[in-house]
Amino acid sequence: MDIRETFCPRCGGPAGDGSDGLCGRCRLAETRWLECETRAVHTYCPSCGAWRSGRVWTDSDRGRDEVGPGLALSALRLHPEVRLPRFEVSIRELSTNRSTANIKVWGTLYGEQVSGDCRVELVWQKEQCDRCNRIAGSYFEGYVQIRASGRALTSRELQSAARIAHETECASQAEGDRLSYVSDLRETREGLDIVIGSQAIGLSIAQAVAQQLGGRVSTHPKLVGEKAGRSLYRVTYLVRLHQFVRDDVIAVGSADLMIASSEGDHVRAVDLSTGKSRTVRDEVPKRLIGHGSDAVEALVAYLDGGVMGMIDPESSRSIEVPHPPWLKIAAGDRVRVLRDRDRLVVLG
Ligand SMILES: [Zn+2]
Ligand SMILES: [Zn+2]
Repeated sequence: MDIRETFCPRCGGPAGDGSDGLCGRCRLAETRWLECETRAVHTYCPSCGAWRSGRVWTDSDRGRDEVGPGLALSALRLHPEVRLPRFEVSIRELSTNRSTANIKVWGTLYGEQVSGDCRVELVWQKEQCDRCNRIAGSYFEGYVQIRASGRALTSRELQSAARIAHETECASQAEGDRLSYVSDLRETREGLDIVIGSQAIGLSIAQAVAQQLGGRVSTHPKLVGEKAGRSLYRVTYLVRLHQFVRDDVIAVGSADLMIASSEGDHVRAVDLSTGKSRTVRDEVPKRLIGHGSDAVEALVAYLDGGVMGMIDPESSRSIEVPHPPWLKIAAGDRVRVLRDRDRLVVLG
């Protein structure tokens, strides 16, 4: 029997499995199993909280308390054969840009229990991120302009367009498109101007507004200069909302119509005399009577053949209007009406 195979050459105890025959304890004694870099740096944007790894910024809402332990452990180098390592990190804040982390480590190496500790200085480094840098530099790639044909935007349209812009921004950034931001919303006499950080978000907002509020999108690029041999464009996405909105009551020829929806180049509307739906193309002349929400109630005094006798709610005088066949009503009931010059238009 070879003595080197059974005894540790260093301490004479039972040999280990390694080729040198050293027992676990003696191998351990000459192994640096725990090392620590003295500093770990976390670079973050003081404005929005995004953090940088290499050149890539990532949005995050994790605070210093949450980031600290992971940052400290990133400075730790363990021997690859350490088994079942456990850590305990305690952090002491020193200043706004410095903390100290103490890390305790336990594990098993060469069959022996090991433990140790080390100290890492955590550096909290502020740096403006790519997005905040662009916003601070008033960088933008274009506008979304919301306009209505022949009228001002309603307050509902203004609110909806602003909401759509913010929702689109949230969705873009949640997908990791950090530079798709809305840098400003400006209400102007003509409508709403949305200043956008990327052309991609401009198109998304314009399409969503046109789809939800009824209108058409046109794109107007404008050459603004050149950078590194490439032409730089700003793009305006113009959303032209329809002249009429849902529940507008309009006169088309001799018919009174209530708008149900505005689409591409036409509106869908209900003919208030027949109760039937019809479409009217944009080029057909239309006159606005009012909006359904402005209707008032009028008392039906009598029904006579195709005629309804009503009490005019303003003058209290009796007024006769045609009885729309779709309207189920009895004398003494009330109906909603809109005034159009000297007549009343019955909405139902
Ligand atoms: Zn030994
Ligand atoms: Zn930022």
